[in-house]
Amino acid sequence: MFVPVNEPLLNGNEKKYLNECIETGWVSAEGAFISKFEDGMSKLTKRKYAITVTSGTVALEVAVRALNFEKGSEIIMPDFTIISCAQAIVRAGCVPVLVDCDPDTWNMNINQIEAKITNKTAAIMAVHIYGITVDMKPLIEIAEKYNLKVIEDAAEVIGQKIYNEPAGSFGDVSCFSFYSNKHVTTGEGGMIVCNDEKLAQRCKDLKNYCFAPERRFMHYELGHSYMMSNLQAAVGFAQLEKLEEHIIKKRYIGKKYQELLKDLSHKIILPLEKTSYCKNIYWVFGIVLKDNAGMNAQECAEKLRKLGVGTRPFFWPMHEQPVFINEGMFKGEKYPISENIARMGFYIPSGLTLDDEKINYVSQKIHEVLN
Ligand SMILES: *Cc1c(COP(=O)(O)O)cnc(C)c1O
Repeated sequence: MFVPVNEPLLNGNEKKYLNECIETGWVSAEGAFISKFEDGMSKLTKRKYAITVTSGTVALEVAVRALNFEKGSEIIMPDFTIISCAQAIVRAGCVPVLVDCDPDTWNMNINQIEAKITNKTAAIMAVHIYGITVDMKPLIEIAEKYNLKVIEDAAEVIGQKIYNEPAGSFGDVSCFSFYSNKHVTTGEGGMIVCNDEKLAQRCKDLKNYCFAPERRFMHYELGHSYMMSNLQAAVGFAQLEKLEEHIIKKRYIGKKYQELLKDLSHKIILPLEKTSYCKNIYWVFGIVLKDNAGMNAQECAEKLRKLGVGTRPFFWPMHEQPVFINEGMFKGEKYPISENIARMGFYIPSGLTLDDEKINYVSQKIHEVLN
């Protein structure tokens, strides 16, 4: 048996809706499913506007650019995240400023934000990691105190609640990804949600060539072609109908692993089940090896692979990215928590197709490797 780290689940109306696209010929960026999917996401996040794009990475890029920061503005973000976050900031001519993560939630450490604020700081980018979210209340308070914009990357927590409000409803603009391992997938895809009409219009312009208002095919500015197709939105809309089921399944998988792995807690750190402001949605089930496990994440992952268990390493810290080091960025900076979990952390099969047999198998192999 080999249990892959993820398999998407597409067992709802995906085929039916795709057929509608094919039969009606609406296959490009216009069509009924684009607006259905956008409306669905705007309802879910209690946002006025939702704008489909081609990926989560692009959603961040467009959102940051649409906020029109002055060149050289600083945006505070977590060291421990995907490159998409820092890349969106750099591509907008701004400067990523990093904070370490919290050892328990693996999310950005809110207590380190204020010390990083300068007269160039323009925004905070909050990124929810693996299933537990950023504590948005104090983060928003800091942003309000210093008059900073807030960008929320909610790619990993579609349908999650923070202080009982939907993830993706916080700050000025929020971004989602629908990559195949997210619990709503369109294969590749992304979404931007916000409440500000001008910001929404700017995002729509940037994703669609920046056509001049008075004349198609005339341009004052260079935009992009970042349109999601009606075919992808058809899949996305069918997936959204299943979101509640998907979340129940994710939480079931999470709970099972917690029970099966808790006897290993002298050797591994398990994800938090909840915090005071959110309940883990277990987008993925991450584990961090303690020093007495006698191996690092890479060694452990290799052993598990040989026993038929797929894993993925944790993110690699932004301050240790060769692409940024070569640009002279983050020189001399250290983020010990992030550095440690990047080396000792990985996630185990967490896809929506897992059944009890596979969950038990994975747990058994983890026990074999660690005992
Ligand atoms: C998946 C993900 C992205 C990137 O999304 P893509 O659709 O793969 O470009 C961005 N941010 C976070 C936190 C993610 O998990």
